Amino acid sequence: MARLTGSFFAADAVDTPYWWEAAKPEPVAEGDIPAQVEVAVIGGGFTGLNAALTLAKAGKQVAVFEAEAPGWGASSRNGGLLGPGWAFFDSGMAHGPQTARAIVEESFRSLQHVKDVVAREQIDCDLKVVGYFRGAMTPRIYDGLGRYIDRIKAVMPCDAYMVARAEQHGEVGTDLYHGGIAMPGYCGIHPARYVQGLAQAAERAGAAVFSHARVSDLAAQSGGFGFTVRGRKVVAKQVLIATNGYTGALSTYLQRRIIPVASGIIATEALPADVMDRLMPKRRMLAGSQRVVTYYRPSPDGTRIIFGGRVLNTKPDEAVSLANATYLRGLLLRVFPELETRKISHYWHGQLGFTFDKFPHVGEHEGMFFACGYNGTGVARASWLGHKVAQRMLGSDDAHTEYASLPFRSRPFYRGRPWFLPLAVAFYGVLDRWDQR
Ligand SMILES: Cc1cc2nc3c(=O)[nH]c(=O)nc-3n(C[C@H](O)[C@H](O)[C@H](O)COP(=O)(O)OP(=O)(O)OC[C@H]3O[C@@H](n4cnc5c(N)ncnc54)[C@H](O)[C@@H]3O)c2cc1C
Repeated sequence: MARLTGSFFAADAVDTPYWWEAAKPEPVAEGDIPAQVEVAVIGGGFTGLNAALTLAKAGKQVAVFEAEAPGWGASSRNGGLLGPGWAFFDSGMAHGPQTARAIVEESFRSLQHVKDVVAREQIDCDLKVVGYFRGAMTPRIYDGLGRYIDRIKAVMPCDAYMVARAEQHGEVGTDLYHGGIAMPGYCGIHPARYVQGLAQAAERAGAAVFSHARVSDLAAQSGGFGFTVRGRKVVAKQVLIATNGYTGALSTYLQRRIIPVASGIIATEALPADVMDRLMPKRRMLAGSQRVVTYYRPSPDGTRIIFGGRVLNTKPDEAVSLANATYLRGLLLRVFPELETRKISHYWHGQLGFTFDKFPHVGEHEGMFFACGYNGTGVARASWLGHKVAQRMLGSDDAHTEYASLPFRSRPFYRGRPWFLPLAVAFYGVLDRWDQR
């Protein structure tokens, strides 16, 4: 952890997630790395831990191998917004209305899955239905959002509704937007407490969870799969790769299909209650309609604003953190100019997994299972597909998921290094500015 210094940082500002103040990813109970396991889960985030929980409850001997500590990746760094998945509707329509509907309905089940796991395992993680508001940056975008609801309603019931600019201050205290869309079913969660609770639940169910246990040299061998952890050879009958945006060279198949994308977040210092009441009257999850994404929310205790957006450079370097935090603060001030004099207490970033078709994917390659590519909707989707892929590994009749039937494609010349991202972000930034001209 490094201190952040600069005119707009609080005196105790740090470059670690605000969430880690309450639930820093720490190693859980450690034993010796076993030479043989029935099921090896590689990666200890929402995907891997949900899978481990389902597998262990079904009586499998499960070991989770996590390169750092459980939850260290995106799962303890995200914004903690989780929604019913209307965002997948339009991409689903590319496969026809039936698929679009099935995908959105499955998204509802993924949200319900998180609610069920949190309740069943008694995970104290501030999971609450608070709703969501997405502000339209222009009147034309506002009209487009209205047509989007109409498209959905032509295929399935939908409780999203439009909020006119005149009513917008009831959702968010800004004049930046030209009205927007409200989605009542959205939830907020404390992601680091959720993932910490998952690791504890998986252990209670009998899974062994190893930290500082980076897996390398993963390959099929007779009777299963072999790999190396801390210099020790391990053999597993089944393997689940649950490393998403951090997969790297572990699997060249996935490396060619997952686009690692960075997102950065800042948290403000605690703000007075009257300011929070004015800026976030319903304590909703929030976002703007820009193509270069911005998303924000109140902290679960309702005292701070947590604000995220796309960052490109993620070098562990104080100057880079300062530049990213400055950029994000600029976006925050566009929404809430009155925060000019307020300090920033945290900046951090993490890696998401995107895919070329914008859908999550789950399946099997050369006998190894995987679930990944949640495209920024992983709190619910990673949890759900971790559970679904585990059911598939168990041979369960309930293992069906719509995502498994979607072809998982790469692009020519893509080898896991997204050289096109700076160009795409610059291009979309120009389009965003063009919209607002
Ligand atoms: C800043 C940010 C904001 C986000 N906001 C939201 C949001 O508001 N809502 C939402 O739904 N989603 C959001 N997401 C996405 C969401 O967090 C992810 O989709 C989700 O956490 C993915 O979970 P996962 O378990 O698949 O991957 P991760 O949580 O990234 O876990 C992968 C783990 O694999 C480990 N690993 C990698 N390689 C190896 C190896 N060789 N051996 C062992 N372990 C290895 C890593 O250390 C890591 O801990 C956000 C992501 C980020 C980064």
